[in-house]
Amino acid sequence: MSTRDVQPPSGTGALISARGLKKSYGRNEALRGASLDLHEGEILAVSGASGSGKSTLLHCLAGIVRPDEGAVSYGGEQLGGLSEARLGELRRRDFGVVFQFGQLIPELSALDNVALPLLLGGTRRSEANQRAGEWLERFGVRGQAELRPGGMSGGQSQRVALARALVTEPRAVFADEPTGALDSLAGEQVMTALVHTARESGTAVLLITHDAQIAAYADREVGLRDGVVHSGSAGPVGRKAARREG
Ligand code: ADP
Ligand code: MG
Repeated sequence: MSTRDVQPPSGTGALISARGLKKSYGRNEALRGASLDLHEGEILAVSGASGSGKSTLLHCLAGIVRPDEGAVSYGGEQLGGLSEARLGELRRRDFGVVFQFGQLIPELSALDNVALPLLLGGTRRSEANQRAGEWLERFGVRGQAELRPGGMSGGQSQRVALARALVTEPRAVFADEPTGALDSLAGEQVMTALVHTARESGTAVLLITHDAQIAAYADREVGLRDGVVHSGSAGPVGRKAARREG
């Protein structure tokens, strides 16, 4: 399939909807009925304490992990009903993913890392390299094109990882604490680059963070507590207030 055949509902409909997600690892219940909508072009921050299920939620939404119960739909199509092959194609073509660190291939240059998703999707090498170079430029790391990840700073390699996530011009980017391993200046540069680029291209972003400064870049924020989504922040203030009440 060369064209996007999954059309998200137009207007205000959600691009991705999760309903009642449950996921356990052994006796450990990572998600206990989490529901969430990610709208087209929206930057949504998900905050929550370590172990609250943030990464598991992201993996379910991005079609990386299948929930035990509940459903995720993308453009009206249930991810649970798709074959592994079709899911893989969606992940490659419609979704981009960025993790905290270390997701670049160490043996490949920055340019080759960014060109890879295009090559996997069948783009010719010359065109893939050209587009990869343009995306490195957008994220201010064109000068690092020939470097391998080991030769770059943490902030530079995260910007390369963002370029790689966005080079296929996905509908949604899933970012799991993308600045979690960076100092605040580098983190701010990465976030500014991500938010600016996502807004420009209309890409929806699900941004996981436990940093209130970072969450402030989002259009909307929800909190995750014990595997359940709560609207509004679950940041330090929200959690403190909840503890006092309860
Ligand atoms: P967060 O990203 O908010 O820190 P996670 O989604 O990574 O939370 O984890 C939620 C819970 O599920 C934690 O208790 C964690 O230990 C557990 N968990 C997550 N992934 C796995 C896994 N692959 N195997 C076993 N337990 C896991
Ligand atoms: Mg996590």
